[in-house]
Amino acid sequence: MRSAIVIGSGIGGLTAAALLARYGWHVIVCESHAIPGGAAHSFSRQGFHFDSGPSFYCGLSDRHSLNPLTQVLQVLGESVPAIVYDPLGHYHFPDGVFPVYSDRDHYHRAVAAIDAQAAVELERLEQRLLSLYEGLRGIPTLALRSDWQLLPTLLTQYLPQVLRLLPQVGVVQGAMADLMRDLHNPWLRRLIDLECFLLSGLKAEGTVAPEMAFMFGERSRSVVDYPIGGSGAIIDALIRGLERWGGKLRLNAHVEQILVEGQRAVGVKLKRGETLRADVVISNATVWDTYDTLLQPNDLPTEYRQRSLATPAIHSFMHLHLGIRAEGLDGLTGHHVVVHDSERDITESGNTCMISIPSVWDAQLAPADHHVVHAYTLEPFAGWQRDDQYPQRKQERAQPLFQALEKVIPDVRDRIVLELIGTPLTHAHYVRCYQGTYGPAIAAKQGMFPSCQTPIQALYRVGNTTLPGIGVPAVAASGILCANTLVKPHQTAELVKLLASS
Ligand SMILES: Cc1cc2nc3c(=O)[nH]c(=O)nc-3n(C[C@H](O)[C@H](O)[C@H](O)COP(=O)(O)OP(=O)(O)OC[C@H]3O[C@@H](n4cnc5c(N)ncnc54)[C@H](O)[C@@H]3O)c2cc1C
Repeated sequence: MRSAIVIGSGIGGLTAAALLARYGWHVIVCESHAIPGGAAHSFSRQGFHFDSGPSFYCGLSDRHSLNPLTQVLQVLGESVPAIVYDPLGHYHFPDGVFPVYSDRDHYHRAVAAIDAQAAVELERLEQRLLSLYEGLRGIPTLALRSDWQLLPTLLTQYLPQVLRLLPQVGVVQGAMADLMRDLHNPWLRRLIDLECFLLSGLKAEGTVAPEMAFMFGERSRSVVDYPIGGSGAIIDALIRGLERWGGKLRLNAHVEQILVEGQRAVGVKLKRGETLRADVVISNATVWDTYDTLLQPNDLPTEYRQRSLATPAIHSFMHLHLGIRAEGLDGLTGHHVVVHDSERDITESGNTCMISIPSVWDAQLAPADHHVVHAYTLEPFAGWQRDDQYPQRKQERAQPLFQALEKVIPDVRDRIVLELIGTPLTHAHYVRCYQGTYGPAIAAKQGMFPSCQTPIQALYRVGNTTLPGIGVPAVAASGILCANTLVKPHQTAELVKLLASS
């Protein structure tokens, strides 16, 4: 039986691990933290159950969804009960509140109420995105891999689908901004920039078109839904899947070093001194952490190492996790994005604030008559240190988040029963990631996210610093690509058949 050690239990790591276990491998996941899930872990305080990061999901409760996470859960024999909701969010601009719907008619009517011309242009843009989404539908992510055997797989099993996608090749490789060349309406352009930023951390110029096509497609052709129990319910389902197929998860198991012998990864050394050996090592730590901290400098070719470590990083975050009293908040909705100042760039720290109140969908996340709130905004890592000024700076830098929340719940400060402020240092500590970054700032057309393969034999990487990029569906896809690359195409074909019949 072949064996793998996976460093980290983020969604990318767990997906690769569970899928390899499903393929019959002996798999151990070593997670540094006491709670699994990485950026997607849940944590509890005083009866409030918080998402530490993501809370916007799609396709969890739709087995026809293109979401790679849903595909993996299906072949593991797992599922995550989820609540479908619409509108999917409210965008609070300085000049008004805009509801965003999954339902296309509602969405168009909401846009037309602001600007009729914008609605016409949006319709055109959506047609292009949906046609790309439909093209992608024919080839499940579960069928893909990251080595030369991808080509024969596509040509022998998916030729008609590939031919249908051919006219879209330019779009697949392009930036979202390329699809917006004939969009003239400034309000709509700003809206799409914001949608891109929420997905990739970059505006339309830097976001790849398939990412937006996936999102537009899922929200209008599948569902936007929230996992009952919060983001931790997804992690629990992946762990159940891993263990059901014989894999193991070890918490509080920080990997200090990847062991390399004769240019081949042979295992890992844990912080507590224990050594584990396996045929393959898969790192779910970031590219910076894997190449700078877990490997010795001479393990990698110098030029490759330097180039990889020079990958630019998106900022980290300020977080606000609140438990609040809920009386009188009937009709409150779960997702809000507040742009404080239209004259400032949306990517500027503190200007765009994301808010989730998932207890509006799942009341069990908070004590009776209370809500859980998570608000966050980008914040540079540089300059943060735990010195005398830290408590005051924390309070100051959290103010844009409180002000954003006041747009949604005007008396929010009077309702607080639990307040936790997180800084880039908090984020870096709990996700164990370089500078607490959201992920690499690799703009469309200026580079590609690297594949799961590395120059070291038997060492692979998954997660948001590998192809296809940042976000839950993307990192689940990275886990699929890695696991499939390690097995024979016919093994993958069997799982794809199972997926199609389930
Ligand atoms: C605030 C925030 C909000 C987000 N919102 C959304 C959203 O709504 N929808 C969406 O789709 N995406 C969202 N994302 C993005 C998404 O959550 C991430 O891209 C994704 O979860 C990252 O997964 P990953 O596989 O890269 O692993 P990570 O989550 O980065 O996890 C890596 C794991 O490896 C562990 N690890 C690292 N080093 C070691 C070591 N040496 N030894 C052992 N373990 C180690 C870490 O502890 C961690 O558990 C959000 C992200 C953030 C931060």
